[in-house]
Parts: sequence; structure tokens; C-alpha cells
Amino acid sequence: MVAKKPRIVIIGAGMAGLTAASKLHTCRSPAAATAPFEVVVVEGGTRVGGEDKHVGVWR
Ligand SMILES: Cc1cc2nc3c(=O)[nH]c(=O)nc-3n(C[C@H](O)[C@H](O)[C@H](O)COP(=O)(O)OP(=O)(O)OC[C@H]3O[C@@H](n4cnc5c(N)ncnc54)[C@H](O)[C@@H]3O)c2cc1C
Repeated sequence: MVAKKPRIVIIGAGMAGLTAASKLHTCRSPAAATAPFEVVVVEGGTRVGGEDKHVGVWR
């Protein structure tokens, strides 16, 4: 049986949320193949990037 990873939910896909998600997703010990937790970003708006309207790569 595979143990479920703890899930971290980030509210808001602005710069802060996206940066936190990226850091958490890539955070792992050298021996681990994947991050020790599942990361989910919840965005209430219709696009990611928040106040920064120039995050073209995310659209
Ligand atoms: C006109 C303008 C120009 C700027 N120019 C610069 C600049 O040149 N350089 C610079 O460094 N910074 C600049 N900034 C500031 C920069 O855009 C912000 O500091 C940065 O985007 C803030 O990121 P944040 O993730 O903290 O918040 P936000 O960008 O506000 O992101 C928050 C996100 O959370 C979502 N959210 C909020 N509440 C909920 C909820 N309850 N459920 C789900 N989702 C939710 C929102 O929809 C939003 O997408 C500028 C800001 C403005 C307004």
C-alpha cells in the first residue's frame, strides 16, 4: 500500500502563490524522486498571475 502524501492547498495564483507552489513542488531530499507532499493551487479569478498582468507564460 502506498501512503498518501499530505496535501498543501495554496489559495491564490498570484506571484506569492505560484512561487510557493513551485518551491514546494521541487522541495525534496536528494534521494527522493518526488516532493513529499501534493500541492494544489486554488484561484478564484479567471486567470493566474494575480495583480501581475504580465505573466504571459501562465495563460
Ligand atoms: C499596476 C500595478 C503595477 C505593478 N508593478 C509592479 C512591478 O513593476 N514590479 C513588481 O515587483 N511588482 C509590481 N506590482 C506589484 C505586484 O503585482 C504584486 O506585488 C504581486 O502581484 C502580488 O502578488 P500576490 O501573490 O501577493 O497577490 P496577488 O497578485 O493579488 O494575487 C492574489 C491571487 O489570489 C486570488 N485570490 C484572492 N482571494 C482568493 C480566494 N479567497 N480564493 C481563491 N483565490 C483568491 C486572487 O484572485 C489573485 O489571483 C504591481 C502591482 C500593480 C497593481
